[in-house]
This record gives sequence, structure tokens and C-alpha cells, in this order.
Amino acid sequence: MSDVIHLLPDHVANQIAAGEVVQRPASVIKELLENAIDAGAKNIQVYVKESGKILVKVVDDGAGMSLTDARLSFERHATSKIKSAEDLFHLHTKGFRGEALASIAAIAHVELKTKREEDEVGTCIKIEGSQIISQEPCVTSRGTTISVKNLFYNIPARRNFLKSDTVEIRHIIDEFQRVALAHPNIAFSLSHNSSELFQLSNTNYRQRITNILGGKTSEKLVPVNEETEIVTISGFVGKPEFAKRTRGEQFFFVNDRFIKSPYLNHAVTAAFEGLLKDKAFPSYFLYLTVDPKSIDINIHPTKTEIQFDDEHALYAILRSSIKHSLGQFNVAPVLDFERDPSLDTPYNFENKPAASPQIEVDRNFNPFKNESGSGSGFRSAFKKDSGDWEGLYTGLKSDSNFIDLKQIEFESEEVTGNLFGATKTVETQNSTFQLNKKYIISTLKNGMLVIDQHRAHTRILYEELLKSITLSPAVSQQLLFPLILQFNQQEIKLLQGIKDSLEQTGFVFSDIKSDSVEIIGVPTTVSESEVEILLERLLADFENEVPENNFSQTDLLAKSLAKSMAVKSGNLLNSTEQQHIVNGLFACKEPSLTPFNKPVFITLQVEELEKKFM
Ligand code: ADP
Ligand code: MG
Repeated sequence: MSDVIHLLPDHVANQIAAGEVVQRPASVIKELLENAIDAGAKNIQVYVKESGKILVKVVDDGAGMSLTDARLSFERHATSKIKSAEDLFHLHTKGFRGEALASIAAIAHVELKTKREEDEVGTCIKIEGSQIISQEPCVTSRGTTISVKNLFYNIPARRNFLKSDTVEIRHIIDEFQRVALAHPNIAFSLSHNSSELFQLSNTNYRQRITNILGGKTSEKLVPVNEETEIVTISGFVGKPEFAKRTRGEQFFFVNDRFIKSPYLNHAVTAAFEGLLKDKAFPSYFLYLTVDPKSIDINIHPTKTEIQFDDEHALYAILRSSIKHSLGQFNVAPVLDFERDPSLDTPYNFENKPAASPQIEVDRNFNPFKNESGSGSGFRSAFKKDSGDWEGLYTGLKSDSNFIDLKQIEFESEEVTGNLFGATKTVETQNSTFQLNKKYIISTLKNGMLVIDQHRAHTRILYEELLKSITLSPAVSQQLLFPLILQFNQQEIKLLQGIKDSLEQTGFVFSDIKSDSVEIIGVPTTVSESEVEILLERLLADFENEVPENNFSQTDLLAKSLAKSMAVKSGNLLNSTEQQHIVNGLFACKEPSLTPFNKPVFITLQVEELEKKFM
């Protein structure tokens, strides 16, 4: 039998390598930016068309290449950055594998123009799918311009795999920001479809961060500086009161390269311990410099993880230096722990008129929760006794239509007396009461109804919002003074995209600048103090789940706003409010489920109760 092993042709090998190096247009931007920086450029311009699917062009004023180097740069494993394996341990450049240009040229139409200072004329090379199309002298200024057109033109599967323009441009902006944050001494610009997204002149770290994140970022930053044997740390952390509800503004750079490190992130979070509200993420921009020998550089070019020799020491140093900074800048003492009012002991209990009857049950009890645990003694006891706990809650079982809504008839008679036989309360005219500040209980003709107040209100608001966005705009309440909120450029872009829909819900924007918005009207159901967090959450939702069409945009908007605006569990509701929710809920088109497909209420029939008493 003849030999079966053969070497793959170069262009095939290059295409395979490209699969690893180039996932999407943003990967091209990253590689080209890194090459420009390695070439010592001081000004770098990036031009993008249709989120990089049509064109990515990077222009630098770096060292440029000789004619031979220009030709060689597209060969695989062609690099000027290391000559021997030993060099790997002293690496001060970003590239070293010599893979990027070869990979990109294998899957796109590439044009390179380059000239060194000392050369009279430059070189222009055109290459398509690893094939040189032309190479000729050309007039160009010092530096290198690389245009990458029609990415993945020869791999339709990869091309089809690309996400919508909104998603791809977000990845591009992310990569661009990471590189720009790491190199404030270099001027960068980024244009998309001939509109300029960033124009960053060379400056210091603080200014660069502010230029990118916008607005009053500078006031929110606390400097961190530490120098030890194993690491030098500089940079900033955000003051705790400005912590975000999303991880958006968390950046680590090691030797000027953006990295991700859950472990070091933990160190930062630990330094903020006790300073942050629940579910808030501290912002940070931390620049670590370590001896190149102490990190594992044999990492994949596109990966952002990194291996440190002495991770534990790094953790400790990072944590303590941030703690120190927070203390030094008087951030730590201005703590304001939010009290949970439900923890307050009612010492004046005796003198209080009895409100709606309260039943003492496990506070964690949540019949909607499917996962076990969280110390729900009540529930597990229940389960043991009945053996068929789930069966009690008819209608909960996957099929929401199981509860026949028309069959729900509210009991018209008044509730007489209360559980503890105390004096009759003022609430007796109404057939609802609140349990555990979380559920609204209402009697039915033949049983009872347990409604999750937050979920019910979310459903009501969701349907109202959908209606106002698509049919008739909601009324808005005018603010006494315009409210000015700061956002970064990315958030502003998102906001502009949903501005019209938001105005339908009652928001009135008087001005949208590049880093702030001015609001003069808000929906009647929203208080001024809630507006910022509401919009912040909304934008975070839009960043996480980019809607592909108008319908899903409206839906996402209504869902996000409804969730933020709805009463929370833990809110005490008076009987009018309870009634309002019950009536509103059953006027909804789909009362039994939240817009997130969670059950809103359960019913308990008298027969089921009777079974329990047998
Ligand atoms: P690497 O960066 O790992 O060396 P690349 O494929 O990215 O590999 O680049 C190959 C070589 O081409 C580089 O080592 C460098 O010598 C040269 N090169 C690439 N881009 C530029 C540029 N913008 N300016 C000058 N030289 C460049
Ligand atoms: Mg490179």
C-alpha cells in the first residue's frame, strides 16, 4: 500500500490557522493594531465598513517594511520579533508567532502599502486567498497601511456565522478600546461607515480613560500605585458609589496587553468588600508590569488569559494596594449600608393596630422555585407529607393554560375576622391581603389565589408598555429640572437606537450629546431617582441581548422596563395597591405568565385543602 500521509498545501494550512486567529472582524483589528504598535507607530487610524465585513483598514506611521520584508510578512512563521526560542523569555512586543498576516491573507482580499523612512518609494502588495496578485512600487508616506476586504470571502460558512452588524461593531469597539486604553501615548481614531466613533489624541492614562468612557469619569477614579519586587501596579479603580450594574468597565493590562483574569478580578472585588451594594461591579483600569520571564507567554495569540508564576502573591499585593487607595482617598469611611427594613424588630408591636393578618412562615419559601436548598424547611416538610407536592399547584405544570381563567371567580363576601381572632381590622372590606411582603392572597369562590406581586406587576407593566410603544404613547410627567445623565459612547449609541420607543413610554429627551443625555420628562410611574438605574439596566440588557429586529427590540425594551419598574417583593402594599394589582393582572391578555415565562399566580382549591385535613 502506498504512503497515505501528505503535507497540506500552504494555502490550506493558512486557512486552518486563520480559523484560530481570526474569528471575526474584531480579531483582524486587534492583530493589525498590535502590529502597528510593535512598529512604533504614534498615530493609528482605523476605518471600518459594515462592521468590518466589507473593509477593515489600519493606517500607521510606524517603521514600515522593506520590499523583501513586505513580501515575507505574509509567510507563515515570518516574524521580525524573535530569532530564537530564548527570545521568547524577553518578549516586549505583542506579536511573535508570525501568524496573523498569513492567516488574514488566506481568507480575505488584502492590500498592503508600506514605506520605511530611508526608502524613496514604498511597496504595494495585493494578495487574495494567500495568492500574490500584484507587487509594485508605490508612492506612500512612511508607515504601513493594510486594507482587509471581504473577510471570509472564500469560507462562506464562516461568513454566514458572523453576527449582525450591531454585534460585530460592538466587538470591534471592545478591541479598539482595550488597545487604546493600554497605549495612551499613541493617538488613535476609529471610523465606521465614515462616521467617526473615536478620535483620541495622545495623553495620559487618566485622560485616555475619560476620553473613552466619557463624561465625568475622571471624578470617579481613585488612583492605585504600588511598586514591589514582583509587580508594579498603576491605574485606577472607580469609587464604590459609581459601581456599575454590569461588568462593563473592568480592565486589566499586563505589560500593556489587555488580559482577562477571574482570579485577579476576585482580588479587586475582595478589596471592595463591604463597600459595594448588592450586585454592583466595581470599575477598574489596572496596569500591571511584570518581568516577561515571570509570565507564560506561550499563550494563544487571540486568547487573553495569562499564566503568572506567583499568582498568590500578586493577588495579595493587588488587594492590599487597592484597599490602601480606597482608604487613603477617604472612600472607605463614607459607607452607607442599606438597611433591610424587614430585619427591624417591631418593639412597639403591642401598640400597633393590627394590619392585615400576618402568618409566620419561612421567609425563603417560594413555591415557584424549582431548585431545592435555600433552607426552605416549610417546603420540604410539605413535600414529605404530601408526597405529591407539585400536584397541589395545578396549573404550574409547564402548561400555563391549565388554569382556566374564566373559572376564576372572586369571592364577593367579606372576609370575616382574622386568623388570630384579634379585633376586626380595617382591611376586612377587601378580599385580599399581603403575605410576607411578597404575595397577594385573594379568596376565590372555591379556594384561594396566591399572586406573586412582583411578577404580577411586571406582567401588567409589560402589556401597558407594549401598548404605549406600538399603539398610543403614554403620558409623561415633566421634571422640574432637567436630569442630566452620563453615559459612555457605546451606551449613547444604543440609546439613540431606542430613543423613539423610549419616548413612546413617556421619556422625553431634550438633548443627547456624545457622552450625556438630558431628560425633561419621565413616565408617570417612574420617580426621578429611579431613572438612572432604570436606563442603566436597560442598556445593559440591550448590550447582552442585541435584538435582531424591530419586534424583538420593542419586546426587550418593554420587558426590561417592566422588570425594573415593577414593585419588588419586600414592598409593603396597602389594600388599594393590592386590589389594583389583582384587577390589573386579570385585565391582561396573558395573566398567568410573566414576560419571562414564569408563573404569576397559583390557585389552591378547597378540595385540595380538604385533602390536607384528612
Ligand atoms: P508577528 O506580529 O507575530 O510577528 P504578523 O504576521 O502579525 O506576525 O506580522 C509579521 C511581520 O510583519 C512582523 O513581525 C513585522 O515584522 C511585519 N509587520 C506586520 N505589520 C507591520 C506594520 N504595521 N508595520 C511594520 N511591520 C509590520
Ligand atoms: Mg502580529
